[in-house]
Amino acid sequence: MAMYTFMNGKFIPDEEASVPIRNKALNYGLGIIEGIRGYWNPDHKQLYVFRLTLHYERLLEACRALAIDIPYTASQLSEITVELIKINNVKRNIYIRPFAFIDQESLRPSLINEQYGLTIALVEPGIYAFNELKTLTSSWLRITTNTIPSQLKTSAGYMNSALAYSDAVRSGADEAILLTREGNLSEASTSNLFVVRGDHILTPQASDDIFPGITRSTVLTLAEDDPSLTWEITTLPKTSLYTADEVFLTGTAIQIVSVVSADFRQVGSGITGPVTAYLQKSYMDIVHGKVPNRFNWLTAVY
Ligand code: PMP
Repeated sequence: MAMYTFMNGKFIPDEEASVPIRNKALNYGLGIIEGIRGYWNPDHKQLYVFRLTLHYERLLEACRALAIDIPYTASQLSEITVELIKINNVKRNIYIRPFAFIDQESLRPSLINEQYGLTIALVEPGIYAFNELKTLTSSWLRITTNTIPSQLKTSAGYMNSALAYSDAVRSGADEAILLTREGNLSEASTSNLFVVRGDHILTPQASDDIFPGITRSTVLTLAEDDPSLTWEITTLPKTSLYTADEVFLTGTAIQIVSVVSADFRQVGSGITGPVTAYLQKSYMDIVHGKVPNRFNWLTAVY
């Protein structure tokens, strides 16, 4: 476990980083989170953080959208994160959880003139150990932009993820696929969705209530960069899961995982397909710093 957490301007011992039980963020989910990942490369004796500043730009954008005023820039938050990793002397893979939240105790669920808190905590990754997932389409629809903004990483939005995920697991699957109100594919409970047809990779678009994942954007860049792959952002019906050659999910925590079954139907050949395997390897090589940092995606901590 990490020994220090960043909270409201200070590095403090983990056990002191807590909020009171009446805290509004705890009661109403009034917060924005991020999820970032650092990878230890034992050959380089180096810890690389993947797309660090971009994650903080996304956090600050969400705070701006909700009028939560956080007094830091993305580069300041990136520097604080590097400092936090150093203070904890982390030399292993690590997950980083920033949290911007309403730090007040009054009853009204409000975003006006509130006091804000900002924490950055380190979390041990590795809870997501699945390689090949069985999915079920959820009866819970994905939140829409005009209910709880689907394109922002709001704490409250994770009720939707938790409901869908829990029911999928209770029904014997590993993960849930959520549809839009129109019945098209949106994404999984905490990851984006891709469908592969031959060498063509397809993923739902912003208007399908997706969360704009950084791993999704990374995969699209890798596909753009590879002359043997083509890609498309489009609306996808549920049946495209059943007719796909391959299906995979992307996210900072789960990275790239293949889906081998959807609604009790075998997907493609029933094992991880060649396009998914290629993207998994490329992604792992990049995040661990095993190949040159040509997109400038890595921040070296030490
Ligand atoms: N959708 C949801 C609901 C998520 O929680 C996540 C994980 N942050 C993603 C998609 C994937 O986003 P990213 O690749 O930026 O981690």
